[in-house]
Amino acid sequence: MSELENSGYKGRALRLLRDADCQVGDIIRITSRGKTYEGILIPRGELGDATNIIIKMKSGYNIGIGASEGVNVEKVGVGTKPTFASSPLPKQNSALPHVIIMSTGGTIASRVDYRTGAVRSAISASDLYGVVPELSEIARVDTEIVFSIYSENLTPKNWKELAQKVAEHINQGVDGIVIAHGTDTMGYTSAALSFALQNLPVPVILVGAQRSSDRPSSDAATNLIGAVKAAGEAPFAEVGLAMHETVSDSAIVVHRGVKVRKCHTSRRDTFKSINGFPIAKVLNQKITMQNSDYKRRDTSKQLVLKPDFCEKVALVKFYPGMDPAVIDFYVNQGFKGVLLEGSGLGHVSMFCFEAIKNAIAKGVVIALASQCIWGRVNMNVYDTGRDLLSLGVVPLDDMFPETGLVKLMWALGQTSDPEEAKQLLKTNITGEFVSRTLPQEKTVYGAQ
Ligand code: ASP
Repeated sequence: MSELENSGYKGRALRLLRDADCQVGDIIRITSRGKTYEGILIPRGELGDATNIIIKMKSGYNIGIGASEGVNVEKVGVGTKPTFASSPLPKQNSALPHVIIMSTGGTIASRVDYRTGAVRSAISASDLYGVVPELSEIARVDTEIVFSIYSENLTPKNWKELAQKVAEHINQGVDGIVIAHGTDTMGYTSAALSFALQNLPVPVILVGAQRSSDRPSSDAATNLIGAVKAAGEAPFAEVGLAMHETVSDSAIVVHRGVKVRKCHTSRRDTFKSINGFPIAKVLNQKITMQNSDYKRRDTSKQLVLKPDFCEKVALVKFYPGMDPAVIDFYVNQGFKGVLLEGSGLGHVSMFCFEAIKNAIAKGVVIALASQCIWGRVNMNVYDTGRDLLSLGVVPLDDMFPETGLVKLMWALGQTSDPEEAKQLLKTNITGEFVSRTLPQEKTVYGAQ
């Protein structure tokens, strides 16, 4: 069987490609409804729609063009065949900034298994670099595979190992770090690294993709290019998360690591800054700062590594009729902290008060963030909030629950003394909360 027969194309699409003598990897020109598209022919999923021909355009963006009546396919060049073996690494330009791409797995480091159409976490950081050769014009890239794990399977132990590896690279004097990561829990890891890596001299940028790099309309290449650009050259030195700003393929925004959340199951612009705004934008290879309040890049800064997290911490969402036995369960299991996701301004039912009182008496730290996501808790408005405060519940200002959870894990990883942990919760470590939000302030990113 030829490469083409093996490529997953069927019917009219296969016929058109065969008649034009095209092989996977060739540069082809497709004319459809008066429009011309040029790019590298890439394989298509065997179980996917066989009527589309998929090409990788110069921008790195994959598009599918329907092989309908009147569509014309022409071979315009013989290209290198796509291969699952590691691609040769592009040449390094010593004048460019030195960036390490560390790969942890997820869709960005995945490829489609063309036999089944399933996505497997299978490519290394150096493959990623090979797939996006444009990176060699932006930075001198070295790569490292840290894990090959979908992010739903990561644990705080992985955060610790990752933070330690990032610190090793930074201490060797790199200009920036990019971490390729699954999107599902990328916001948790970005928060964890923000607490673990303090006083950063250079940026640490997490990046993911909603579609693997060999899928039509993959966002992997553009996200990666934006992330490497920011890591190598941006004037800030914080943990950031780089993804599409909108569904269109133009701008990549870098969100602050403690203020970002995955908000959509499948859109490319799934990540949103919550109760804050992105730090920077990368558009047409140009970085513009979106925020005047940021920590500066400064290689004379000495990184402070605090990578310990306590895993005996639970996130409990309050809901009407919640049985307080849920709180007792964690206390009896020896948990050290519980982050309550309260309603509205920061409430849970009075039926939970006894369980909360008992937990606090046993030395469990109880913190509270709002399940509203946007806005801040204010536990002084209603009696319920005041009662919770007097029980010793710690309000987490404008932190949304996931960042609150990670901070509680981190605080209890630094100390086993509940009072000290509470003090850490109330201290602004890395821009995770602001202590006041003015009523007129625009805090919903993207809202008018
Ligand atoms: N489940 C995948 C992960 O988080 C999804 C993704 O990478 O976007 O690893």
